[in-house]
Amino acid sequence: MSLFINGFKDSKNVKEFKELGPDVQNLLNAAIKARENAYCPYSNFPVGAAILTENNEVFTGCNIENGAYTAGLCAERTAAAKAISEGQTTFKAIAVVAQQESFTTPCGVCRQFISEFASKDIPIYAAKPTNPPLRVLCTSIYQLLPESFSLSK
Ligand SMILES: [Zn+2]
Repeated sequence: MSLFINGFKDSKNVKEFKELGPDVQNLLNAAIKARENAYCPYSNFPVGAAILTENNEVFTGCNIENGAYTAGLCAERTAAAKAISEGQTTFKAIAVVAQQESFTTPCGVCRQFISEFASKDIPIYAAKPTNPPLRVLCTSIYQLLPESFSLSK
């Protein structure tokens, strides 16, 4: 039986946590820890993210909501803004962690935001926040947003 999650065939794109390399495991664990700081009194949907940059630094983020809803920030963009503001603009991998029935992948705005820093494809790992995570959706920014917007320079 094949199970589709967010359009991905389970058997092909979902791996066991223990099958993944230590860098990816560390990234997922960092996202789980960052999720603990989520400020989400409106949605009650905490999300954690972690970004591995070219120089092997990890930047984490959580979602930060606001009473003026549109002012809120997703976990992925929080992590990305931290990395970019520290001069790290080349991303190697991204982990996203949230608890719902299906895997949680970056929203459309975050996909576009990430794609700005994706001159080549970036793997994206999505998991539920169990400790350790059990199953991990392995996708990429190009799979999630194949035709991103970009300004001709
Ligand atoms: Zn988002």
